[in-house]
Amino acid sequence: MSFFQDLFSIFKKRELIFLESHQESEDVYSFLFEKEKDLTWKAGQYGLFSITHKTIKNATKPFSLASAPTENIVKITTRISDDPSDFKKAMLELNQGMKVKMSGPVGSFYLQDDSPSLLIAGGIGITPFRSILKQIEAEGNGDEKQRKLLYLDGKKSYIYKDELDEIAKNTSISVTYLDSRDDLHQEMDKFNALYKNNGKYFIAGPKSMVDSISSHLQNNHISKRNIKKDAFFGY
Ligand SMILES: Cc1cc2nc3c(=O)[nH]c(=O)nc-3n(C[C@H](O)[C@H](O)[C@H](O)COP(=O)(O)OP(=O)(O)OC[C@H]3O[C@@H](n4cnc5c(N)ncnc54)[C@H](O)[C@@H]3O)c2cc1C
Repeated sequence: MSFFQDLFSIFKKRELIFLESHQESEDVYSFLFEKEKDLTWKAGQYGLFSITHKTIKNATKPFSLASAPTENIVKITTRISDDPSDFKKAMLELNQGMKVKMSGPVGSFYLQDDSPSLLIAGGIGITPFRSILKQIEAEGNGDEKQRKLLYLDGKKSYIYKDELDEIAKNTSISVTYLDSRDDLHQEMDKFNALYKNNGKYFIAGPKSMVDSISSHLQNNHISKRNIKKDAFFGY
């Protein structure tokens, strides 16, 4: 999506009706909203979500749209600690029928062609990849394409695991769960040895992790233009 389309999208604010939330793991929650018919996005993009039912500082934050447009629902998933920010406290207070605002979708974190692609998620950074994988599964076009998801979580708390395993069964996408940086590097190096700069590399997760994985790729001669990053700050 072009810069101008992003700019147009960002000014288009819409209200989303809250449906329900559920816990994905001890400290990870998903929030579901109604999807209006004219709302769509490219799997992997994000929205800017604003709290409107109370006045708080920093009332707007970006969240990846974790659902695929074909699911006909807007889903975001986030980690909420014991000592949450005002934004996340407000998210937990949402009741069915209440509204948040969303502008977007924005961003260029989506598959643009059929190049071999390595998708690398660190912890909560799995959210845009859930959308991407769900969309590939729905379109039934996963065959023959070299697409691999590496999912790193030091605590082995892999959210969406059942769904991802199901997608891996139904498509040619492979999913590898990892809990150490060394193993992640090994898997990245294998992909890199096969595809080098013919591959595309997508990284999402906490900013420090995204930066260090990106440096590893660049140290291994992967050009910046083949690396796409979604760096989540606040983690
Ligand atoms: C493109 C993009 C996509 C993203 N997608 C996602 C996503 O899918 N899921 C996701 O979870 N995040 C995502 N993020 C990050 C997200 O926007 C938030 O920055 C992140 O969730 C942290 O939010 P927070 O409210 O906890 O952060 P902050 O306000 O930065 O707080 C960080 C920590 O500080 C402490 N803190 C802050 N304020 C208070 C307070 N008032 N009282 C007590 N403690 C406080 C809390 O411990 C809190 O956990 C994305 C970011 C980008 C740029």
